[in-house]
Amino acid sequence: MKNDKRQAKWILLLAAVMTLLVAGGWAFFTKFEGTAPVVRIDPPFSAVGTERAFVVEAEDAGSGLRSLNVSLVQGEKTVVLLGRRFDAAEGKGQVRETLRLAVGDHGLTEGAAMLRVESRDRSWRHWGKGNPARIEQTVRIDTRAPVLQVLSEPLNINQGGCGLVIFRSSEPCPVSGVTVGDTFYPAQSGLYEDPLILASFVALAYNQGKGTPVAVSAEDEAGNQTRIGLNHFIRPKQWRQDTLQISDGFLATVLPALTGQIGDVAGLPPVEQFLKINRDLRKANYERLVEVTRTSDNQLHWHDGFVRLPAAANRAMFADQRVYRYQGQEIDHQVHMGVDLASLAASPVPAGNRGRVVFAENLGIYGLTVVLDHGFGLFSMYSHLSQIDVQAGEMVERGALLGRTGTTGLAGGDHLHYGMMVGATFINPIEWWDDHWIKDNVTDKIAGVGAPQKTGD
Ligand SMILES: [Zn+2]
Repeated sequence: MKNDKRQAKWILLLAAVMTLLVAGGWAFFTKFEGTAPVVRIDPPFSAVGTERAFVVEAEDAGSGLRSLNVSLVQGEKTVVLLGRRFDAAEGKGQVRETLRLAVGDHGLTEGAAMLRVESRDRSWRHWGKGNPARIEQTVRIDTRAPVLQVLSEPLNINQGGCGLVIFRSSEPCPVSGVTVGDTFYPAQSGLYEDPLILASFVALAYNQGKGTPVAVSAEDEAGNQTRIGLNHFIRPKQWRQDTLQISDGFLATVLPALTGQIGDVAGLPPVEQFLKINRDLRKANYERLVEVTRTSDNQLHWHDGFVRLPAAANRAMFADQRVYRYQGQEIDHQVHMGVDLASLAASPVPAGNRGRVVFAENLGIYGLTVVLDHGFGLFSMYSHLSQIDVQAGEMVERGALLGRTGTTGLAGGDHLHYGMMVGATFINPIEWWDDHWIKDNVTDKIAGVGAPQKTGD
């Protein structure tokens, strides 16, 4: 009996200890959880102009959020942008606060300041204050817009032609460039030793005539913008009219290779299939070129005049206004955005100039196509090839073999469709076959700035 009593006592004691251990473990792992909240600034930034909106996100997967504080400290001054405490329910899940910092309202001055984000969770750790999370980052207060100085001579530009604009910004700017009409041509440094000197080739599209505005602009890290009109002179051009007779024989030759790229059109008459290719596939192929030409090297890869396909006759010119006729009816209208050069079948195609291959594959109506990046937004394009002898990524020298002429894509006979682009705008290649034009509009302009040029490449 005595023994049984003692045993019962021990069992009770053991049960109490076990309960305490379980409760302690539960408290340790939940109430005393040791994972700090996650805080984030979106978008991240390192400079503030006159005003900036941003979002602060905080989340605590363990015990939930207890507090979130955001402040900006400059010298002795502390500007509280947010001070929030959360109850148990509010602290669960993600908290997003949109904050607006207006530099003028708080008497902040130009220069460095410290942005501080602090959050604590509801853990019992740290003597009951919770696990801390903190972001501290330096932000520069800069309310001054960049000052832009145009260094190149006034822009004389042909309709459908190209020009070069060189300017200097008083400070580094993540976005800068030249806007022609509605088209933006990003500028890059790298042409001169001074990294604040920026350059960009610009284009006047075939359909942008006299009166097209041209402006130089830049936006600094803090979001301050400057935009100034650019002195320019536009020489208008007339484009040729051209009629293309579409025959059943032509359709029978070109359609089989192209219909697979425009969805299910098997039930449509051949001329309808052709129209889908000439309109929709042409548009889709152009969108691909927009992607290909979105970035350009900040080096002038090329030198001297561009090489034209040797011993070749011009078959079609840049910006020819093409009317398509079928069985006596006018069925379509398109603009020819390059020069067609015809020589012997399967003629070797030389690179117009030194450049980097950025595209070497099939491109719908253009057939087998190579695109070269010559730097600062200038590209050349070689289409309807029967064979490609280069690969994307490689550098090719002026005159190097890119492939051979052919009839791939929407081509009636063996020829090279030679195109040139500034960004995604097609330009007239004849300027780049003309040494005088290049000297007056590009090389003399670069030298005329008088700043030391970057060497290399
Ligand atoms: Zn062509």
